Amino acid sequence: MERNIFEKIRDGEEEANIVYKDDYVTAFHDIKPDAPVHILIIPNRKITSMNEISDEDNVYLALILLTAKKIAQEFNIAESGYRLITNCGKDGGQEIDYLHFHLVGGTRLGKMISLPKNKK
Ligand code: AMP
Repeated sequence: MERNIFEKIRDGEEEANIVYKDDYVTAFHDIKPDAPVHILIIPNRKITSMNEISDEDNVYLALILLTAKKIAQEFNIAESGYRLITNCGKDGGQEIDYLHFHLVGGTRLGKMISLPKNKK
């Protein structure tokens, strides 16, 4: 089966601007940043989305949060503030089927949810 882009980045087969990597998580700059700081954090175990997490993933999930905190400090957005977002499924806007968290900051972020104009 064709492996997706985040699996290839995780395995060093696709280029990415990696900011952190250990045995459990990999973090890299988003290729199309929506904010001055926009970093993606993934577990090194392939988990498709939030719908697929299980009890045995607890270490990965905890380390993603701890890594986000450390990266926010490293990129000087801890004090000013930031958002950590994961999109799940079609309505959530998930494009890549590999669980990932967007760490975004470095500017005043707008409303958290913006619906298309014709929807409520
Ligand atoms: P999502 O819509 O939550 O699935 O987010 C996918 C994110 O992956 C988007 O913000 C893309 O810009 C980002 N992305 C796609 N391909 C790459 C890549 N090769 N390197 C870094 N980020 C990527």
